[in-house]
Formats: sequence, structure tokens, C-alpha cells
Amino acid sequence: MNLDTLVPDYVRCFQAYVPSRPDHLLMREYGAPLLYRLNNNENPLGPPPAASREIASFPPELAAVYPSGDSFELREALGNRLGISPERILVGNGSCEVISSVIKAFCQPGDNIVTADKTFAVYEWVAEFSGIQAHLVPLRDHAFDPQGMLDRIDNRTKIIFVCNPNNPTGSYWTGQLLTDFLERVGSERIVVVDEAYREFVEDEEYPDGVSLMERFPNLVVFRTFSKMYALAGLRTGYLVGSDRVVEVVRRTSVVYSVNVQAQRAALAALSDDGGHIAATRALVRESRAYLRTACDDLGLETVIGEGNYLMIRVPINDMLMYRRLMKRGMMVRSMTGFRYPGWIRVTLKEMEVMTRFAQALGAEIAAIRSRGRTS
Ligand SMILES: *Cc1c(COP(=O)(O)O)cnc(C)c1O
Repeated sequence: MNLDTLVPDYVRCFQAYVPSRPDHLLMREYGAPLLYRLNNNENPLGPPPAASREIASFPPELAAVYPSGDSFELREALGNRLGISPERILVGNGSCEVISSVIKAFCQPGDNIVTADKTFAVYEWVAEFSGIQAHLVPLRDHAFDPQGMLDRIDNRTKIIFVCNPNNPTGSYWTGQLLTDFLERVGSERIVVVDEAYREFVEDEEYPDGVSLMERFPNLVVFRTFSKMYALAGLRTGYLVGSDRVVEVVRRTSVVYSVNVQAQRAALAALSDDGGHIAATRALVRESRAYLRTACDDLGLETVIGEGNYLMIRVPINDMLMYRRLMKRGMMVRSMTGFRYPGWIRVTLKEMEVMTRFAQALGAEIAAIRSRGRTS
């Protein structure tokens, strides 16, 4: 077997993502008695109560039966909530799956996508292992740069991905900025706005992508149940687009990819999210303020925006800092992979965990600085 002739160049050149190993293996490797995962922006409150009850009482006989192939009831409920036809919604196995469906639907070899260099990397990865070029535009002041993005569009650009708010910087475009951008892009390309963290944003200037679609039928919005709704383990996300766009994307998406328990839990979560969203926002607000002050006190630079995460600049290599924090049971995201060498991203969790994290970080910073003085 000659894999060199079998495998397309763009797959041969692509480096697979390495997921983190299970907690018990990591704890053994780093000699940590406990492990707090502050690396994936998960919600420590868990799912809304109705979703938790739904998961706990899942009838095993349903596992034997195929789920709705197009998440029928979940789309009905989402359509009601958003005031749109359920036909305009496509549910996927996490919003990561719908990224792939959109790229397959619109791009062929030679085409390209445009996005930022320091953002959620899945847009870039799916494009590249599919043989589609990713044009990466540098952030400007840690935010998506509309003019820079417009300048990188060429006649083979099919999709523009905007992460709003951006993971990892938390920056976001206001309604005015987004509308201006859509107007200047025109209607011959798809613009995807990834709103994975939209439920965390409290600013009134933050735009609702779905309400802009009447004016901009080339706009597609991604949302997820993984973050605010705390259903990351069940993998459910969705896109919203205009009828014609969704009709095309549906052709390239996998039927039955969303499992029955995920559909039921997401439906329940949606019916019971008021108190949950308020409680999560309050938790994130308090933890963000606390960690901001803790970093200021340590003299560490931060990038803090919306979303349940923030970035900290550390005085040593970020991979090294990752390992040192792991020994103290704190798992953060080292940011070299996001093209932010020397930075870590930390998920905002409950205060008890944040105070432990601040202690661990403070101890490491003190050790680094005292070593610097004596050497
Ligand atoms: C976490 C995240 C997602 C969600 O991915 P799922 O596949 O729905 O879990 C999408 N976009 C961004 C920017 C994210 O950070």
C-alpha cells in the first residue's frame, strides 16, 4: 500500500489535533491529586434543571431506536423561540459538524475561506483538510478587523467566518459594525457569524445575527448547546440561515448525526433556560472581576472581553506554564496553538475554583520571579 499516492496532499500535510487524555492519566502523569479543567469553556453549573432531569430519566428503550433524522421537535422549538420557520434551522453533532457541512456545501478545490488568524481554529482546520485554502487575517487590537478581512476577499472566496464574540479574545462586533461589513461584502459570498458565546453577552449593542437575515440572505449563524447550556458532552449545535442557503447545506450534512438523548436534553434545556442563564451570567461576572483583579495584583497583562474565559500573558513559555499549572491540578489552554505564544486562556468557573487557580498562578509567578532575581 502506497499511502503517498493514496492520500491527497492536503491531508498528508495536515497535522491531526491531539485531544487531551482522560483525567486519571493526566493526574498520574503530573502527580496532581485533583484536576480542574479550565481549558474548554465549560459551564460549571451543569445543564438547566429540566435538561438534567431529562438526562437522568432517559428511557433505555429509546437507545434502540433511531432518533429523528433532522431533530424535528428541537427545530420546532428553536423556530418558535427565534420566530422563524424550522426549515431554516439545521442541527448538527455540535456546531463543529455544521462548520464542515457549510464548507462542503459551498467550497471546491481552489476556493478559499477568509477568517482571523487568532480565533476558533476549526474553520481553518476543516478548510485545510478539505483542500480549501484558509486566508487568515491578523486581529487588530485583539479583535476581528473588518477592513483587513475585506481586503483578503478574492474571486475564489466563498465563505467568511466571523467569531462573535471571538474565542479567545472575547471581542465582538456591534450591530453597526456587522451590518456595515455585510453591506460591503455584498451578496455573492456566505458570511458565517459564530455565536457560540452569545448567551454570555449582556451588551445591548451586541447584534442578533438571526434578525439580520432578511436583509442579508447570505448570512449564516452558528449557535451551540455546549457552552451556556452545558451540554458539551452530548454534542448539539445548529445553524440558522435563509431558506435557500439551508436547503443547500442540508445536502452535505449527515442524517441521524444528532443522537436522541442530545435532542431531548436540548429541547428540555430550551424550555428552562431563564434562571440558568441569569445564574451563569452572575457566576461569570463575579469570577471575571475576581480574576482580573488577581492578575492586576500579580502585574500580569490580560485580554478580557465577553464569554466565559479570559486570556493571561505569562512570563514564560505557555506550554511550560501549562505543565507547571498541571502539577498544581489546574488545566488551562496554552495559546501557542491559537498563535498567541506566551498566553494562556482560562475558563471562568465558580469562585472556589477561581481562588484556587489564582493561588496556583500566584505561586508559579512568584517562583519564576525569585529564580529570575537569583540567577
Ligand atoms: C466551543 C465553541 C463552539 C462549539 O462547538 P460545539 O461543536 O457546538 O461543541 C463553536 N464555536 C466556538 C467559537 C467555540 O468556542
